[in-house]
Amino acid sequence: MDVYAVVGNPVGHSLSPPMHEAAFEELGLDARYVGLEPAPGDGAAAVEAAETLGLAGLNVTIPFKEAVLDAVEPDDLARRVGAVNTVDFSGPVPTGHNTDVAGVQRTFERFDVALRDANAVIVGAGGAARATSVALCDAGASVHIANRTRSHADRLAADIGGEAHGLDALPALLPGADVLVNATSVGMDEDVSPVPERALHGDLAVLDAVYSPLSTRLLRDAEAAGATVIDGAWMLLYQGVEAFERWTDGTAPVSVMNAALRDRL
Ligand code: NAP
Repeated sequence: MDVYAVVGNPVGHSLSPPMHEAAFEELGLDARYVGLEPAPGDGAAAVEAAETLGLAGLNVTIPFKEAVLDAVEPDDLARRVGAVNTVDFSGPVPTGHNTDVAGVQRTFERFDVALRDANAVIVGAGGAARATSVALCDAGASVHIANRTRSHADRLAADIGGEAHGLDALPALLPGADVLVNATSVGMDEDVSPVPERALHGDLAVLDAVYSPLSTRLLRDAEAAGATVIDGAWMLLYQGVEAFERWTDGTAPVSVMNAALRDRL
């Protein structure tokens, strides 16, 4: 039997185990997927332990995505993003990958949103914003990063080649934008939006990285404005699909994984 795991702290709420186990079952694979919760600071040790135990693959989540870079051979993309969310043990050394980037690209593809030459606004400058901005830049969009702490936006924009702004720039940026991504945690704990409602319009595709709740204030405002709305479960789904396909060299059963994910949200 192949054993896969997600390493995080806390990990109990992770939706990766049900999503991947549904895929294994659908394809008749003899595999299990479990959650592992090392102490904060022990992420790299967890990768070494997983290799010793013969695990087939790992996902890595908060707070270990950056620390794990030192325990694996990261590919170019993981190096550029500065974070690993998928480890592959099939080679002579564990390799580190970042499937969040392709996850964002496949999400927009699924909704037929063209990213080449699109004018994109990303709200936030943390981990989700970093993967999203690499995804949109690499797909040929011009990227504006608006963040509460301007210096964090400056650093991210300098790293990936976008333009940095404060949140006060949103009303001026959005009328000319095709794509908007909320990559902040705003909307998770309270029914509030990081984006002024009046700046939204019908020519926007709006992705909210927040997936709990699925229906955020931002997405409801965007829907009312006639925009294309994309919830955060799509991004979560496609990073998992990318990881699954890397580990198994096969095609993931996307609709089964999507149903397993949405069942639990
Ligand atoms: P993070 O690294 O901690 O970054 C948090 C970001 O939110 C920062 O830009 C921060 O701004 C901003 N922020 C926090 N509170 C704010 C507030 N009250 N007003 C304005 N901005 C605020 O977190 P992360 O890992 O990027 O995660 C961000 C969100 O994305 C979370 O909801 C997470 O669940 C979600 N996420 C979803 C997926 C998915 O697959 N759907 C994947 C990863 C993350 P400052 O720089 O000013 O602090």
